[in-house]
Amino acid sequence: MLGSRSFERAGPSGEDIRAFPGSFYAATIAEPIDAPALAGDAITDYCIIGGGFTGLGAALALARGGHRVHLVEAGPIGWGASGRNGGQVHVGWQQDLPWLEARLGRTTAAALWQAALAARAHLDTLIALDEDACDYRPGLIHADHRPGMVAHTHAHVAMMRDEWGYDSLIPLNNEALRAVLASEAYHGGSFDHLGGHLHPLKLALAMARAAQHAGARLHANTPCTALAPDTDGWRVVTPHGVIRAGKVLDATGAYARALVGETDAHVLPINNYIATTAPLGADLAHELIRNGAAVSDGRFVVYYFRVTPDHRLLFGGGESYGYRMPRDIGAFVRPHMLRVFPQLADVPIDHAWGGTLAISPNRLPFVIEPRPGLYAANGFSGVGVVLAPWLGDAVGRAMAGEANMGYDLVQRLPAPRFPGGRWMRWPTQALAMRFMALRDRF
Ligand SMILES: Cc1cc2nc3c(=O)[nH]c(=O)nc-3n(C[C@H](O)[C@H](O)[C@H](O)COP(=O)(O)OP(=O)(O)OC[C@H]3O[C@@H](n4cnc5c(N)ncnc54)[C@H](O)[C@@H]3O)c2cc1C
Repeated sequence: MLGSRSFERAGPSGEDIRAFPGSFYAATIAEPIDAPALAGDAITDYCIIGGGFTGLGAALALARGGHRVHLVEAGPIGWGASGRNGGQVHVGWQQDLPWLEARLGRTTAAALWQAALAARAHLDTLIALDEDACDYRPGLIHADHRPGMVAHTHAHVAMMRDEWGYDSLIPLNNEALRAVLASEAYHGGSFDHLGGHLHPLKLALAMARAAQHAGARLHANTPCTALAPDTDGWRVVTPHGVIRAGKVLDATGAYARALVGETDAHVLPINNYIATTAPLGADLAHELIRNGAAVSDGRFVVYYFRVTPDHRLLFGGGESYGYRMPRDIGAFVRPHMLRVFPQLADVPIDHAWGGTLAISPNRLPFVIEPRPGLYAANGFSGVGVVLAPWLGDAVGRAMAGEANMGYDLVQRLPAPRFPGGRWMRWPTQALAMRFMALRDRF
């Protein structure tokens, strides 16, 4: 037996796994997906554990390839980070190209950049699966909260254009930024035409429906409570049935907690929070962000925000490193929101929720095969909207024996473990993160 766990609740936060959190996203989907819990045993070629972007990407690729694939998800499909994130579409990796080049060399950095562009193009094909096109809106502003950061951002824009041929990025000086963003908290930045924002739960559900359509068997409310090697593969144990599968993908994100110990050692779960205001009306919403883009800033604990199609401000900010989420998440997020938009002091918060993201030591995702036939893909470190569906697709195809650039590349990246082992990595790393977060205040 590799690992086993109880599933009355899930995640470091101890949230109820049976229903979506009270998010704006859960309130604005037409209907949840019909994916009945597993009842009885099954035999299959591939079993995916986790119904987020990574697992759904793999299930979709395998089903489209004509393979027998089952997916088990502890909660409703899209319950984890994929169904509740900021919806910001970032082009690239959590580390920039100079960082990648300095550590991994020019050739790997160039391959990673091409992969990032391929992942962005892949996202477009998934957005097109949804009848609302996942409410996608183009444009992403990077906003600098310290005047001294602006020169660095502009140098980065020039470097991306001159060295890497990326001309979707333009610099914004203070005046240009103020023309589109009604906040005095920022001093300049950049605008990426290829970035944007979307409704992440619509994306997850569109991927799930497409996977089902292609023949994948999806089981919501079906936690894997134990995983054990079997004669011809793996036994995926769930409360009401066992799936025997040739190969298994652990795609449990930050919510795994000891299912596969080898994966756990590479990931630190961190809670991050989002709130949406009551509808502001088209005029005020337009006034806040005139070009309708998403915005994220340069803080260590990033502020990210955007306007929803029904004219709310959706604002993400604040993290916690303990096991519990704050009791009143709206009150937790509000002071962060008011630092950027003090003009919203009297506006009520309608929805507030938290999510748990999986940070890796080098902030790059990883794929590992800790035992023969057992794969894990994880560690997106806050930029999984573009990369996780793409990497899930790549891993699914690799599991089926199809060579592909994405899998080969990510599988060769260094995948360090957090120091401190299963129990000590949390307090030591959390302390380090708290220290970094403190620097945002000065
Ligand atoms: C608050 C927040 C904001 C974010 N904002 C952004 C953003 O704006 N842009 C961006 O690019 N990225 C963002 N991210 C990161 C992004 O959401 C993730 O990188 C991405 O969703 C990871 O997808 P995943 O499939 O790996 O994990 P998840 O979506 O977390 O999926 C894992 C699933 O596995 C299930 N599971 C766990 N254990 C078991 C088990 N034993 N049996 C069955 N199922 C199990 C969980 O219930 C969960 O649904 C954010 C994340 C958070 C939390």
